[in-house]
This record gives sequence, C-alpha cells and structure tokens, in this order.
Amino acid sequence: MSVAKNLIAGRIPEDRLFPYPALRDKDREVLGQVVDAIDQFLAPRHEDFKRWDRDAAQPEEFIQSLRDLGLFGLIIPEEHGGIGLSNAGYARVLCQSSTHDSSATLTIGAHSSIGMKGILLFGTAEQQARYLPRLASGELIAAFCLTESGAGSDAASIRSQAVKNADGSWILNGEKIWITNGGIAGLYTVFARTASDAGKMTAFLVEAAWPGVSHGRHEDKMGIRASSTTTVSFADVRVPAENVLDTEGKGFKVAMAVLNNGRTGLGGGAVGGMKALIALATQQAQARRQFDAPIARFGLVREKIAQMTLDCFAAESVVWMVAHYIDSGQQDYSVEAAMSKVFASEALQRAAYQALQIAAGSGFMRDAPYEQITRDCRILTIFEGTNEVLRLYIALSSLKDLGKSLAELKTAVDDIFNNPIKGFGVLTDYAEKRLTRATGVGRDKLATPLPPPLREAAAIFERYTVELAKAADFLLRKYGRSIADRQHELQRVADIATDLFVGLCVLSRAASLGNAPDTSGAHAVQMARVFAQQAKRRMAHQVRRITHNEDEDMDRVAGFILDKGSYPWDVM
Ligand SMILES: Cc1cc2nc3c(=O)[nH]c(=O)nc-3n(C[C@H](O)[C@H](O)[C@H](O)COP(=O)(O)OP(=O)(O)OC[C@H]3O[C@@H](n4cnc5c(N)ncnc54)[C@H](O)[C@@H]3O)c2cc1C
Repeated sequence: MSVAKNLIAGRIPEDRLFPYPALRDKDREVLGQVVDAIDQFLAPRHEDFKRWDRDAAQPEEFIQSLRDLGLFGLIIPEEHGGIGLSNAGYARVLCQSSTHDSSATLTIGAHSSIGMKGILLFGTAEQQARYLPRLASGELIAAFCLTESGAGSDAASIRSQAVKNADGSWILNGEKIWITNGGIAGLYTVFARTASDAGKMTAFLVEAAWPGVSHGRHEDKMGIRASSTTTVSFADVRVPAENVLDTEGKGFKVAMAVLNNGRTGLGGGAVGGMKALIALATQQAQARRQFDAPIARFGLVREKIAQMTLDCFAAESVVWMVAHYIDSGQQDYSVEAAMSKVFASEALQRAAYQALQIAAGSGFMRDAPYEQITRDCRILTIFEGTNEVLRLYIALSSLKDLGKSLAELKTAVDDIFNNPIKGFGVLTDYAEKRLTRATGVGRDKLATPLPPPLREAAAIFERYTVELAKAADFLLRKYGRSIADRQHELQRVADIATDLFVGLCVLSRAASLGNAPDTSGAHAVQMARVFAQQAKRRMAHQVRRITHNEDEDMDRVAGFILDKGSYPWDVM
C-alpha cells in the first residue's frame, strides 16, 4: 500500500520514509560528469536563451548540441546506447539544466519523461531494439500526443481514432494539440480510440516521416517560448500492427503510467528553477542598498529568502523520495508522484513571485531574468495534469482504499451474526485503529530514533496523520460514494495529505543530514522544524474547514456571477 494510502488510514509507514534514500553510486559517478557538461555548455548561452525566448525559436544547431551531449539518452539503458540513469539521477540532470533555461530543459524532458517513456515501460524487446538506440542518439526526438481540442483534463474523451485493417495494421486519424516537441519529433506516442472489448483507447508508436503525419506551426506561448509546441495531425496514417504499444485497449493505462512515472522529471526541473531564483535573490539582496543598508538586512527581505529556501528543500526532499520509490521498483507511487508535482510546481511559482518582489522595479524590467522565469514556470501547474485535477486524484485514490475497508467493516458487522469468528477478527483490528486515531497514542508513533529537535516536528506529523484519518473517516461516513463530487472537501484532504507526506520526507532528509560535519546539517534540522510548524498551521486550518467553511455561500456567489456573466456592481 502506498504511503498516502497508509497516511489516510492513520498509519505512518516508516519503512517507506526512513532512512532517507541515497543516490546509487553508479548514478553519482555519471552525474558529476553530466552536470559539469551541462553547466559548461548552457552557462555561456544565457543571452541566446533570452533571444530565443523573444523569437520563440530553438535553432537546430542548439538541438544538435543537445544530441552531441547525449542528453536524449539519459534514461535509456546502456545496451541501447543511452546513459542509463535512474529516475533520481535523471531528475537531478533536469534540475541542473533548468537552472539555466526552461525551454532547453523541456526539449530534453518531454522526450524522456513522456515522449519515449512508454517504450521503456511497455515496449516489446523488438520495439526497444528498433527505437531506443535512435532515441538515445537523438536521431529521433520523441513527443507524447494525448491532448486534443475537446480532451484536456478529460483525456479519456479523445476522438482521434484508429481502425484495424484485416492484416492487423491500423488506420489512424485525428489531431492532437499543444504537443511539446511536436515540430521536432521523429517519433510520436499517440493515443487513439479503438473499438475493443479490452478498452476504448490504444497507444501507438507513430513515425513523423510516415505518409499522413504532419505538424502545425510553432505556438506563440506565454512562457517556455523556445520549446517546440505544435499541433500534430494524422490523416489516414497506416500504423503497422507491431507499433501498438502494450496491448490493444490498454492505452489509457499506458498514458497514466507514463505521466505518473514522468512527474519526477518535472519536479526536478522545478527544484532547479528554485535554486536559480535563490541564487539571484541572494545576490540582489546583498548588492542592492536602500536606507543606507543592503536590503538583505531587512526582515521582510530575509523572510522571503528563508521561505524560498525552505520550499526548495521541501520540494527537493519529496521529489527525490518519489524518484527513489520508482527506482526501487515500487508499483504504487502515483499518488505520491502527484503530490510531489503539485508541491514543487506551486513552490516554484511562489519563489518566482518572491524573487521578483525582492528585485522589485529592476525585477520588472525585461533585461532581468525574473519576468522570463515567471512566465516559464507558469506552465508547471497546468500540464502533465492540472494541479486541480491532481488534487482530486490524490484525495480520491487515497480515499478509495479506505472506502473499501469501510465497506469491509460493514460486511464484518453483518458477519458477526452470520460468521462471528470472521467478523470479530476484522472488527477488532478496526476498533484498534479507531482507538489509535481517537487518542493519537499507539501504532502511529514513529519508532525511528530522532534527535530531540526533530522529535517535536515528528509529533506534529504523528498528530495530523490521526487528524487526516479522522477527517477521511468522517467524510466517507457523511457522503459515502458521493464524496467524489465534493471537490472542496477533496481538496482539503489532498492538501493535508500532501503537507503530511512532504513534511515526513523533509523530516527524514533532515534526520539523514543532521550529523553532517558542517553547519548545513544543523540548518536542515532547523528547516524541518520550521516546515513542521508551517505545515501544522496549514493542516489545522484545513481540518477545521472540513466542518466550518463557506463552501455553500461561495458556490452561490459563483452561481450568481456565472449566470450574470460579469461583475454587476459599481460605485457610480
Ligand atoms: C505548453 C503546453 C505544452 C503541453 N504539452 C503537452 C504534450 O506534450 N502532450 C500532451 O498530450 N498534452 C500537452 N499539453 C496539454 C496539457 O496537458 C493540458 O493543457 C492539460 O492537461 C489541461 O487541459 P486543458 O488545458 O484542456 O484544460 P481543461 O481540462 O479544459 O481545464 C480547464 C480548467 O478546469 C479545471 N478542471 C478540469 N476538469 C476539472 C474537474 N473535473 N474538476 C475540477 N476542475 C477541473 C482545470 O484544472 C483547469 O483549471 C500541453 C499544454 C501546454 C499549454
């Protein structure tokens, strides 16, 4: 059972959280070289990145250099010509490249995280042998084609269609929109409707060079402007039978698995963005003098720098924890991956706001990097699942298992009369859990030895794991299956669960760093304490709002304005 599903049932699965995992030695060796190469190559190109952002273009020579650096083969196994990094190592590379440029990071990231990930996860040996070497060299750049004009968050409603021929091949028709790498890709992972008893969607590997495949113009976007985003169209494209990815009818499963697995890439990129912002804000705060002092002396500037650092540490802790779950072969990590994406993307957007605020007027000027970073990072809460939809997913997936155990409880109660032995077995276990939840004493205490400053922080997470379980229990009893339509409540559950999971990752990381010989260990412990206090305030607020809120009034306000179509008041 995943960490999130444990938390919502009132348990902290310590073996999944402590000790904080370390990078594989093999990754560490390779990473040193890759990270240096990225810095050497990207650092001198900052003026180019600025120009390409304005021109909305990424020159082919630059993409060729990315190929030459091996950046399209980061996660492809060595036997197929790649570097063979783990998920954690890969996220670290994206972290580094995004300290320089978001568009360049996205070109590499969309290829590996989503474009060709399906071949790694579901490809047959033959498909892997046929495509991975060309993908590793960057001869083929990959793109992931799911979204359509009528199917964004509701990906299951796509209309692109593939019809099977008598010889087993397929004819594919449809148009995808906003496809990252759409204009430079040689291979598309395409999702289309297929009539099959197994399901309504199938994933196909489609080469850009095949007759009937075309792409639209480079989209004129708000941010990540140099990154290629285009429509991709398929007009009577013949797809051979051997280019079905996984099995017919299982396309939706493939799409979700790819997105879940790829989320740590996005998280790594967000952490890199925050590191860049912290460096910029620090330099600015030291250099800028007002009232006869560097602005770094002022409490309100220092608070922003501290908050950015705290958010970055927390995002880093959660993203790499999830990456290690994936690397260690755990199957059930999709909720934690969604939490890491939601937390890291929002933390980066807060950091962009705070850093620009420190730079103030000069930060508002286009010569400074802040406005581009602000525009570039805006996409992160939108693509690869909007943060709203991911919050619903976090809450509903976690509640689903709890709902099942409540249903089992009902059966157990019935069983007490029909089959007393079976019934009592389950009920006793459940009663014990409820007692634990009600008192906060018992199985929910962390057994891992922690130094006293972290023990205090741990007590907060122990207490709120109980609160989350109580809230979930209350909501399931009150709404039953209709909880799926209670979005305000689901958002609160997701936010409490996310703060708990992120907080426990921070605690685990601080515990592992606490004994570091320099002062960074002590500061990590301090940050874990502050994060726990901040999380406690947020969680207490959300717990209270489960029973005390203005949801219905807010809904009436929205209903009124939606009917009116505009704001109706004026002072005239
Ligand atoms: C620059 C860029 C690059 C992209 N790259 C790719 C790519 O490579 N491949 C690909 O397939 N797609 C890609 N996308 C598409 C992206 O994944 C979608 O934009 C995203 O899934 C959201 O869909 P939408 O924009 O249609 O929003 P909608 O689904 O229309 O959502 C609109 C709003 O309604 C909210 N909403 C929707 N449903 C619900 C609900 N049930 N409950 C509550 N709120 C809800 C959303 O959170 C959002 O705020 C890209 C998009 C952009 C802008």
